[in-house]
Amino acid sequence: MIEQYIAKSIDCSCGRTHRSRVETIEIKENVIEHELVDFLKSKGYKKLTVVCDKNTYRVAAGKVCRVLEQNQISFKLHMYQEDSVLPNEHFIGNLAMGMALDSDLILAVGSGTINDICRYVSAVACKPYCIVGTAPSMDGYISGGSALIYNNLKLTFETHTPIAVFLDPEILAHAPKDMIASGVGDLLGKINCLTDWRLSKIVNNEWHCDFISDIVDAAIQKVVTNSDNIAAGQNEAIADLVEALLLSGVCMDFAGNSRPASGCEHHMSHFLEMRYLLEGREAVFHGTKVGIGTVIALRAYEYVAKLNPDFDKIKKLPRKSFEEWEKEIRLAFLGASDEIVDLEKKSGKNSAKRLEARLAATEANWSGIKALADQTVKSKVVYDILKQLDAPTKPHEIGVPKEMARQAILYAKEIRDRYTVLQLLWDLGELERFADLIIDEYYS
Ligand SMILES: [Zn+2]
Ligand SMILES: [Zn+2]
Repeated sequence: MIEQYIAKSIDCSCGRTHRSRVETIEIKENVIEHELVDFLKSKGYKKLTVVCDKNTYRVAAGKVCRVLEQNQISFKLHMYQEDSVLPNEHFIGNLAMGMALDSDLILAVGSGTINDICRYVSAVACKPYCIVGTAPSMDGYISGGSALIYNNLKLTFETHTPIAVFLDPEILAHAPKDMIASGVGDLLGKINCLTDWRLSKIVNNEWHCDFISDIVDAAIQKVVTNSDNIAAGQNEAIADLVEALLLSGVCMDFAGNSRPASGCEHHMSHFLEMRYLLEGREAVFHGTKVGIGTVIALRAYEYVAKLNPDFDKIKKLPRKSFEEWEKEIRLAFLGASDEIVDLEKKSGKNSAKRLEARLAATEANWSGIKALADQTVKSKVVYDILKQLDAPTKPHEIGVPKEMARQAILYAKEIRDRYTVLQLLWDLGELERFADLIIDEYYS
């Protein structure tokens, strides 16, 4: 399915031309022995730097090294010895100093972190890179951005995409269960992304592409209907999951931004990730947090579907001043608050002028908004699939304290200038009430 969308331009009825930057994606058993070797030979690479950690060496990089030797392809192995590898200055510097300077390709063997490190180092070194993936844990294999920790803050650095991705379902199916569940959580998050995107089309007349949202929607359906087999670790179902995750990556390329694959469920996840990092807490998988955020986001749509707003009253509601808002932001975002305050100064997303325009559009289109909220997938569908995978479904199950969970719902919308259901609730003066409802239920 994915082959039809890559390595070509698609003239779309939305008026744009869509193109994915990745050229080769292979999802097949024994992909290391066959497609990877064929690719390296056909491209004529002479010397590789193979990057892995102890775990990914055991599950895939050891095999990669043996196959390279058998085919007389020269390489240098860079294996991190630490039990936990982080995408920070230390590990990036370690690879930059340890890689073969004369290598013509960096080959990452791993999932999220190893890829983020290799993507960045290869971009800085002006070398191409490709990936042998080891877990279907997130949708970022073909992303052009690296999520890195710099000065204790998680930031996205725009770098480049891999030239090729190789995935063996047999290897992926043996990934730890919580990594597979994380991939499912990241993918289920797309249900909310698509709804947030449609909502913004209604309220802000934001550009929207049916072709892209149909691809993401089909990918979601495949995973939702296949969740039994994914939970059972069936190779074919795991291959479908990773293909769905890659497709959502392709769709981000098509759209030119992350709109089709990141809505307020991701913003809540980013908020928690930032706080965990600032407080020195142990990291939680990206998709695990996204899954929890998705249940909350879909609850928000269920809440919207029941509202009967009195717009005259809403327009007269007292709103916080910038100074009052900033005070709250400093308490919620701690050391990362400068960026959030700067974004608001630049975008004015909470300003009276933008609020007024959004409220006018919300009022004029209320029946369409209500219908969208009514028709979106119910939170219980996502909740049940996460349960089936023994994945956390609520913030306290990953150790999020009550106040932090409340802040995630209230302030996630400040992370990006991207309209979502949380901004809609804020506009309607309902966000605090919604946060209290969820938090009282979750933490009682
Ligand atoms: Zn289009
Ligand atoms: Zn994600």
